[in-house]
Amino acid sequence: MSKLRFRVVEEAFQKKAVEVTPPKERPSDFFGQNVFNRAKMFKYLPEKTYEKIVDCIDNGTPLDGDTADVVATGMKKWAIEMGVTHYTHWFHPLTEGTAEKHDAFVVHDGKGGMVEEFSGKLLIQQEPDASSFPNGGIRNTFEARGYSAWDPSSPAFIVGDTLCIPTIFIAYTGESLDYKAPLLRALEAVNKAAVDVCHYFNPDVKKVSAYLGWEQEYFLVDEGLYAARPDLLLTGRTLMGHESSKNQQLEDHYFGAIPTRVLEFMKDLEIEALKLGIPVKTRHNEVAPNQFELAPIYEECNLANDHNLLIMALMRKIARKHGFRVLLHEKPFKGINGSGKHNNWSLGTNTGIMLMSPGKTPEDNLRFVTFIVNVLMAVYRHNGLLKASISSATNAHRLGANEAPPAIISSFLGAQLTQVLDHLEKSEPENLMLAGKQGMNLGISRIPEILIDNTDRNRTSPFAFTGNRFEFRAVGSEANCASAMMVLNAAVAEQLKIFKEEVDGKIASGKEKFAAILEVLRKEIKECKPIHFEGNGYSEEWKAEATRRGLDCETSVPVIFDNYLNDSSIKMFESTGVLTRKELEARNEVKWETYTKKIQIEARVLGDLTMNHIIPTATQYQTSLIDNVYKMKDLFPSEKAASLSSRNLEIIEDIANRTNYIKVRVDEMVEARKVANKIEDERSKAVAYHDIIVPMLEEIRYHIDKLELVVDDQLWTLPKYRELLFIR
Ligand code: ADP
Ligand code: MG
Repeated sequence: MSKLRFRVVEEAFQKKAVEVTPPKERPSDFFGQNVFNRAKMFKYLPEKTYEKIVDCIDNGTPLDGDTADVVATGMKKWAIEMGVTHYTHWFHPLTEGTAEKHDAFVVHDGKGGMVEEFSGKLLIQQEPDASSFPNGGIRNTFEARGYSAWDPSSPAFIVGDTLCIPTIFIAYTGESLDYKAPLLRALEAVNKAAVDVCHYFNPDVKKVSAYLGWEQEYFLVDEGLYAARPDLLLTGRTLMGHESSKNQQLEDHYFGAIPTRVLEFMKDLEIEALKLGIPVKTRHNEVAPNQFELAPIYEECNLANDHNLLIMALMRKIARKHGFRVLLHEKPFKGINGSGKHNNWSLGTNTGIMLMSPGKTPEDNLRFVTFIVNVLMAVYRHNGLLKASISSATNAHRLGANEAPPAIISSFLGAQLTQVLDHLEKSEPENLMLAGKQGMNLGISRIPEILIDNTDRNRTSPFAFTGNRFEFRAVGSEANCASAMMVLNAAVAEQLKIFKEEVDGKIASGKEKFAAILEVLRKEIKECKPIHFEGNGYSEEWKAEATRRGLDCETSVPVIFDNYLNDSSIKMFESTGVLTRKELEARNEVKWETYTKKIQIEARVLGDLTMNHIIPTATQYQTSLIDNVYKMKDLFPSEKAASLSSRNLEIIEDIANRTNYIKVRVDEMVEARKVANKIEDERSKAVAYHDIIVPMLEEIRYHIDKLELVVDDQLWTLPKYRELLFIR
């Protein structure tokens, strides 16, 4: 082991858990302590103002300036009592993560002193100098005017000494420059469309909310080891490293006992999350060594997404306190599982009906089937777009690559629901529709008992029905869920609208309501069949079958992004009011550019590591072998020396071949990058990076990993997989 490596590995081994003393109170006592939630609003705001703000949150009623002033004053009072000195608009630019710029509450008081102030104007809207956020050309730097505007549906919260106000981020010309604005529009669209469809069954429904329950997977590595791996530090993943002899083969990590150091980290994280009102609930070891999962109780989608972004930031911070680094990259290590972020999604009404759950009456069940089938139709129509919504340079390693499920979106329903849909499709309408609604015979009266027992699971499906929700499993661990959620909700909104128009058309021409619904559903069940797949999504046969079915099977991420600009996507986004063509075009520019930059950084880091670590180390070892061969000649007669040195000669040659190959390929890669960098068009540049640079990274890595196996361990500078993955 090299000296540095020895030191960091030894330190990592010796680290003890930083014990966390949980607060004396129960979680229910400190839950939401750092959030300006309804209870606090009630306490800090006059009754009238409280009513107005609640109406604004629940029903989207606009806030007037005077009310905003009163809210700001109450918020400030609470924050200052909590020891807060600064405030910030907290938004989600088109990068990963969140952005914030802190301002102190203080202003001059006109008498030479200072006074804490926070007005409604500052609460509602601000103009961060945001010219360096990605905008895809919507906002040139010379007119760098964008503003952030308060999203009252997500409560303000305190981190450290700062009051954070969730906001959307938009250009002065109105285009969104973030993830939150289109997500909110998609949620509004699905609310409206779903309420309309609900009215066939329940006329008193006033609001439909989308719910999101995310499951965050992540890796932990010891901080010292992380620091000794420039690739992890700069790209979030290991660009090289031979597989450890023991990985996840024994399946001994999954659901295993959580190591003490990790458990203390989790405890600490949970306490801070609960204080921020994040209802964390589940924690466990994942499949790969050093891989873990955290899941809260599901919440309204916009809030859940804010909470996910918040927790990712919190994880990074708290991990460091415990001497860890958290890896949110989708594939930090080759040869073992990557990390995803399953998005459990459902719709529910203000009257308490979960629309993806079967009910007690045949009517309830028809409503249930209506929503299920329309979701399937939406996923079918926009399967390519949904794939685009979860695609990124990093998630590409999880999907469509060698060790991952194919990049094809399909939906698993389970045997029972499949049977229900088959029955609906095949039975004669007259048999389904007996006189009067009580006589409706869908053959599905037994759904409730059956679906509650959802043992029927398919872990290879990217979009699986799991009893009362769909689980969108293809979302990447590092992603902002809003990307997937805005597409899914918007697509479902569009589909529900189309469905309603068809049903209304039939009703207008004299069909009975439920008969009309059944007729349209039967047609849709047939139409969306290609998306429905119960088999093994990881199999080769599925790829061939999916191609035959006409599903999007593209694997190149930059090309997958084209889906955003398809006619059907633009139509869907514009008709639901979620994004305009101009916004979509700008966002794609950002996506392609980001893709290119990520690969570019990886290529540079790999080049540097090759020249500064790998080749020198391999050469040093090779030199010692050469030295040995010469000395053997001095010791033994030449024939015997040759025979005794044959193995070393082989290694010498092997190292020479590989280091030469690596050097040549790195040079070629530099040249190829120069050529690609000259391409002006962002899409073509990203395609070049995908087609030319990415394969080179893999080829170079292959030889580096082989060298790792032969070179003396004492010389190897970079911590190895077995050290990164098994030390706590
Ligand atoms: P599993 O590993 O079986 O998928 P988990 O308990 O890890 O289950 O996570 C399930 C997630 O799904 C949790 O966040 C949970 O709150 C969420 N969830 C449960 N029911 C719903 C629902 N109806 N809508 C959205 N999310 C849900
Ligand atoms: Mg799950």
